[in-house]
Amino acid sequence: MARQELVNEIKENVRATRFYLDREKLDEKVMRMLATVPRHEFVPQDSRRFAYENRPLSIGYGQTISQPYIVAIMTDLLDLHPDAKVLELGTGSGYQAAILSGLVKEVYTIEIVEALGLKAKERLVRLGYDNVTVKIGDGYYGWDEHAPFDAIIVTAAASHIPPPLTQQLKVGGKMIIPVGTMFLTQQLLLVTKQEKGKLVSRQILPVRFVPVTGGH
Ligand code: SAH
Repeated sequence: MARQELVNEIKENVRATRFYLDREKLDEKVMRMLATVPRHEFVPQDSRRFAYENRPLSIGYGQTISQPYIVAIMTDLLDLHPDAKVLELGTGSGYQAAILSGLVKEVYTIEIVEALGLKAKERLVRLGYDNVTVKIGDGYYGWDEHAPFDAIIVTAAASHIPPPLTQQLKVGGKMIIPVGTMFLTQQLLLVTKQEKGKLVSRQILPVRFVPVTGGH
């Protein structure tokens, strides 16, 4: 089955990049989500046949659904626990939110392109991911009403770590975020918030994401 082959490919990618990730393999529960979430439901009709290839795909409006390997490692590096509340900046297709849905208690996700956000919301409801809440807005400012979060995942590249997001992260919480520009290399950063709000960040690996937009 195509989805299981994709999972095997991700396992190989993880093994090949274990020195970057500082782990040999990903959590079983993360792998199980990748093996169950129907990625073909999250891509446009005309690219469904590519849904289980390990690469990003266009979802319209100049945006993309991330490469499954990247979704896998970003999710895994957050070390999520079942009671966690997670914030995502960049709902896109809703695929990353669906993966998170089975791993944590609540997922809050923000999308700036209204048409994408509405479509993702409809899709997540239809597929039964009922612990995901989608909002249309500028995720740069986070979602104060539901803060603090145990973990934050940013799925678009930011020029810097948005201060409202670090404020809304719990002490001990982790944020995964690609930082950089469209033209220079972006680095995937794993940021941990320590006592007194001190941030410790670790560079994971170079990545390529669409940019964070908005008026900030
Ligand atoms: N996580 C998505 C892929 C995200 S692509 C998925 O699983 O499909 C990045 C998304 O971030 C795009 O949909 C883009 O519109 C959105 N985005 C960019 N800047 C944003 C902002 N400031 N606030 C919220 N969403 C933003």
